[in-house]
Amino acid sequence: MHTETMTPAGTDWQNQALCAQTGAEFFFPEPGSSVREAKRICGMCAIRSACLEYALTHDERFGVWGGMSEKERMALRRTSR
Ligand code: SF4
Repeated sequence: MHTETMTPAGTDWQNQALCAQTGAEFFFPEPGSSVREAKRICGMCAIRSACLEYALTHDERFGVWGGMSEKERMALRRTSR
């Protein structure tokens, strides 16, 4: 089976972040506003799983990471521990 590791050392993976090219405003929306556009971009991002893992590991509370809003990540943390 061919496998590629998604988590290179350090934060090199962030160089491939699609959101870095599109601007942060989608990813840190005003409270209550839509995160749909951010999630759509995450859906096309090559490093989505590494990004989500990073956010969970570092307890990132704000914004969309790896296609999940802060509320969704909180729910995920609750169910996975
Ligand atoms: S998954 Fe989303 S938040 Fe994470 S780097 Fe990619 S575009 Fe940015």
